[in-house]
Amino acid sequence: MTRAAVIGAGPAGLMAADVLSAHGVAVTVYEAMPSPARKFLMAGKSGLNITKEEPFEPFMQAYGASMPVALRRALEGLGPAEVMAWAEALGQSLFTGSSGRVFPTVMKASPLLRAWLARLTAQGVVLERRARWEGWDGDALLIRRPGGVERVRADVTILAAGGASWPRLGADGAWAGWMGAADVAPFAPANMGFEVDWTPHMARHFGAPVKGCVLRAGALEARAEFVISARGVEGGGIYAVSQAVREGAPLVVDLVPDLELAVVAKRLAKRRKKDTVTAHLRKALRLDPVKIALLQEFGRPFEGDLAQKIKGLELRHAGPRPLAEAISTAGGLRFSALDDGLMLRGRNMVFAAGEMLDWEAPTGGYLITACLATGRYAALAACQRLASAAGAAGRG
Ligand SMILES: Cc1cc2nc3c(=O)[nH]c(=O)nc-3n(C[C@H](O)[C@H](O)[C@H](O)COP(=O)(O)OP(=O)(O)OC[C@H]3O[C@@H](n4cnc5c(N)ncnc54)[C@H](O)[C@@H]3O)c2cc1C
Repeated sequence: MTRAAVIGAGPAGLMAADVLSAHGVAVTVYEAMPSPARKFLMAGKSGLNITKEEPFEPFMQAYGASMPVALRRALEGLGPAEVMAWAEALGQSLFTGSSGRVFPTVMKASPLLRAWLARLTAQGVVLERRARWEGWDGDALLIRRPGGVERVRADVTILAAGGASWPRLGADGAWAGWMGAADVAPFAPANMGFEVDWTPHMARHFGAPVKGCVLRAGALEARAEFVISARGVEGGGIYAVSQAVREGAPLVVDLVPDLELAVVAKRLAKRRKKDTVTAHLRKALRLDPVKIALLQEFGRPFEGDLAQKIKGLELRHAGPRPLAEAISTAGGLRFSALDDGLMLRGRNMVFAAGEMLDWEAPTGGYLITACLATGRYAALAACQRLASAAGAAGRG
């Protein structure tokens, strides 16, 4: 029987194991941690957003303008509709939020994961826990278990060891050390917050959400809230524009996106003598205390172009929060190191999938969707190669 080794029991590796086992391949998943899919479970803590229900082209644009062929094909094979069908087939009822984000009704990841692991077990997939891949010895995988390191041979290997954010959940990016240096784009945080060296006045707003605003950076724009924290700014709106900010674009917030600049200027011009600036901002524009605090933090002095500052306040920051705190990882295994079936050019029958590949996308379900899609796509490409090899052997 054909044997496959899958490295990593996250969504990408489990999907690869699912597809391979459904094609009659004997699959062992090697997972470094004592339990599988810890990041997937963590994702479920704040509501497991499995995909985004939206038309295909805007969906694809979330992955950037120049999309590698293999990623495009993977998502053409498994996009939002297929992710929803997959979760429903595992007994999960779903709902779509007003923004198109799709969640299990229970919000959590654990019921979905339990059902999925049960199906994989029924298909004969073996999950080895505390089994850490540590590179190769020739063609053999080096697998470290508590008892020592063993050489493991497989007909097919799918690498799905994840990126390098939240390393305590298992994916630590150590695998980059045993790939060719030129094959790995440097890791960087993605979907992360930014550090701000706040003045003491801001302390009373730590933990406060900033609602009803639009964030802009470079070509990116998001109408979503964000949060003021002791360390800086974070949350959905910030993550959505974080790639452009990481690449050097200023981070700008429109505090009153539903009012035109001229309207803001007109309202500001009518100030009662007895009103302080703060009272005037509150009355004229209904700015809440946290927005006024941001304006005081970044917008002083208030003379002259106050309306423009309210419509485009630059949030001056001291750079991204560290990779270990980011939701996801940019960089990773370059698509140029892989063929169009996600097989490593330098290693026959070794494929890669999920967040360890060099793509990035905003939060909103795009991450899990692409991990599932590339896991499936790599496994199907492996099955095709196995079938062609069997066909050639039969003819021979
Ligand atoms: C707090 C948080 C919330 C998130 N929320 C969402 C969300 O709502 N929606 C969304 O789309 N995405 C979300 N994400 C991102 C999403 O969880 C990841 O993109 C996804 O889990 C990546 O899947 P993966 O299978 O590629 O890697 P991972 O899930 O990281 O899995 C990789 C697995 O490989 C194992 N491993 C690593 N190295 C080795 C090795 N050498 N040997 C053996 N095993 C190894 C790891 O232990 C891990 O189990 C969130 C992430 C975080 C941190």
